[in-house]
Amino acid sequence: MVTDTPARKSDSAGFLESERIKTLDLPQDGYLPRITRSIEEAMKAGETADVRRACAEFLEASTRFYRVPHCVVRVLAARPLRVREHWSTELFGDYTPETMLIRVWMRTAVRKEVTSFGTFLSTLCHEFCHHLDFQKFGFRDSWHTRGFYERAAALYHHARGTPLKKLFWIPITGGRWRMDWQRTNRGA
Ligand SMILES: [Zn+2]
Repeated sequence: MVTDTPARKSDSAGFLESERIKTLDLPQDGYLPRITRSIEEAMKAGETADVRRACAEFLEASTRFYRVPHCVVRVLAARPLRVREHWSTELFGDYTPETMLIRVWMRTAVRKEVTSFGTFLSTLCHEFCHHLDFQKFGFRDSWHTRGFYERAAALYHHARGTPLKKLFWIPITGGRWRMDWQRTNRGA
C-alpha cells in the first residue's frame, strides 16, 4: 500500500486532516462481524446474488451507524474493462462520489482468479471509507493517506473479528509513504 502525493495547497488542509485521523468509531455490537460471515459463506458457495445481498446489508448497517447517506453496491463477477481513472491503484473495486456507488468484483481481471475473501472484504471496507471521507468527514477529495489506510484497517479488522495491527510506514519520494509489511506483520 502506497499513499497518494500530498494534495496541492487548496486541498492541503483536508489532506492533513485525513492523514491525522487514524481511528474510526466502531459499532460495539457483533452485527457487522455477523454480516461479514454471511458474505464469506456466500463467496464460498459461489452465490453472487447472496454475496450482493450480504454486501448491501453490510453497507446499510454501516451507513446507519455512521449516520451518512445510503450508498449503493454493485458486485460484479469480473473487473470491468473500463475502470474509473480517479484512483489508479484500485484493483478490486471502486467508488464514485457523485453517485455514491461502490463496485467490487469477485474475479481478477487478467487471470480471472477468484478474489480471496480477505481481499474482497478489505476492498469493501476501503471503498466504504472513501464514502465516509466525503459524507462523514466532509473532505473535498478522498486521498489515500496513512490515516485513510488506518481507518480502513480498523473497519476491516472489526468486521472480520481479527486484532488490529499497528501499521508501519517507510517514506518514499514525493512525500509519499509505503507500508512496511514486514514490520507490520511482525508487530514491531
Ligand atoms: Zn481507494
